[in-house]
Amino acid sequence: MNKDINILNIFTNKINLLDLNRTEIEHFIESLGYKEFVAKQIMRWIYKYYCSDFKEMLNLNKKLRRQLEETACIFAPKFTREKISCDGTIKWITSLDNNHNIETVYIPDKNRSTLCISSQIGCVLNCHFCATGKINFKRNLKVSEIIAQIWQANKTLKSRNINTSITNVVFMGMGEPLFNLKNVVSALKIILDIYAFNLSKRRITISTSGIVPALNKLVNMVDVNLAISLHASNDVTRNIIMPINTKYNIASLLSSVSQYLKKSNANHGGVTIEYVMLHGINDSRQNAEELARLLKRLPSKINLIPWNTFQGAHFLCSTDNHINIFANVLRKNGFTTIIRKNRGQDINAACGQLTGDNTKNINFNNKI
Ligand code: SAH
Ligand code: SF4
Repeated sequence: MNKDINILNIFTNKINLLDLNRTEIEHFIESLGYKEFVAKQIMRWIYKYYCSDFKEMLNLNKKLRRQLEETACIFAPKFTREKISCDGTIKWITSLDNNHNIETVYIPDKNRSTLCISSQIGCVLNCHFCATGKINFKRNLKVSEIIAQIWQANKTLKSRNINTSITNVVFMGMGEPLFNLKNVVSALKIILDIYAFNLSKRRITISTSGIVPALNKLVNMVDVNLAISLHASNDVTRNIIMPINTKYNIASLLSSVSQYLKKSNANHGGVTIEYVMLHGINDSRQNAEELARLLKRLPSKINLIPWNTFQGAHFLCSTDNHINIFANVLRKNGFTTIIRKNRGQDINAACGQLTGDNTKNINFNNKI
């Protein structure tokens, strides 16, 4: 991997078109003296043909091509390393500046190709069961760094003659998307745009640990599927395993989610509640009953996630028996409940295992 390429735009000071949504590209093109429709032609080259060289955009006039070369670039950080799981899941690592890495996970299934993308390098939130929370937070990803993960994934699949592009995008990689709200929303506009990735809002999911003020803003910004990392049936347990709960407790979080659902078309089947199964911590029958009571008035479906281990962690995953009993209590209470299959465990690509191989920075001092 040529690291110089990844920081090219920093040195050349050119505008990276992958940082701009359609309206912004239109403004940029107009500032160069051209009509707005040219923006769509350029976006077609970028998002349909995966072209990053203005010289190849032959339906643009020569003068514009030269102007674009002087002022802009199309720069998508490349995947640096790849790990392939025995179940077909692929983990791609991208080295950004200062050797900070992010991870992107491709999960092929019968009818869909899901890409799990990162929104930050590391995470400040320190949920105790999550490997990403144990690496030092570095920074938010730029719009182009979020978009590049999908762009490079599609380009890679195409180069391998895999006859599908990404059909679903989930913000469940490294980081807390609502702590990078502005860039994530800009990226979502590009993912939804018919002249870019053109994915339907029902095929995009933002997963959040529950940053209530940001969620209250999101409701007026964009409509996509919401997944809430609840992971506990009461504040006492959630305060311990997810310290963010001491700031935004379960009641305030669920009330904010209700407001989002009132305005949303994407979440027509209800919000997805994520619940990681931690042996002896949140997995008793009483916890399941308490969870059912908590969610009684919230249209929701529940994903039980068997906890994935990582080096230095101090938890155990619940037994299959406990997970099944827990699921059955929820089902008896009328909740659609799925026990999530963990994909890519053998390459540390499953939920909560993503560290970007930044393991030098891992900090295991925060035992609970
Ligand atoms: N920060 C966001 C999105 C990234 S985490 C969030 O917390 O929602 C994606 C999902 O994986 C979240 O539901 C998270 O709680 C869960 N997760 C984290 N660590 C895990 C682990 N070790 N095993 C299983 N799921 C985990
Ligand atoms: Fe951050 Fe999400 Fe991991 Fe919590 S679970 S530390 S919010 S990435």
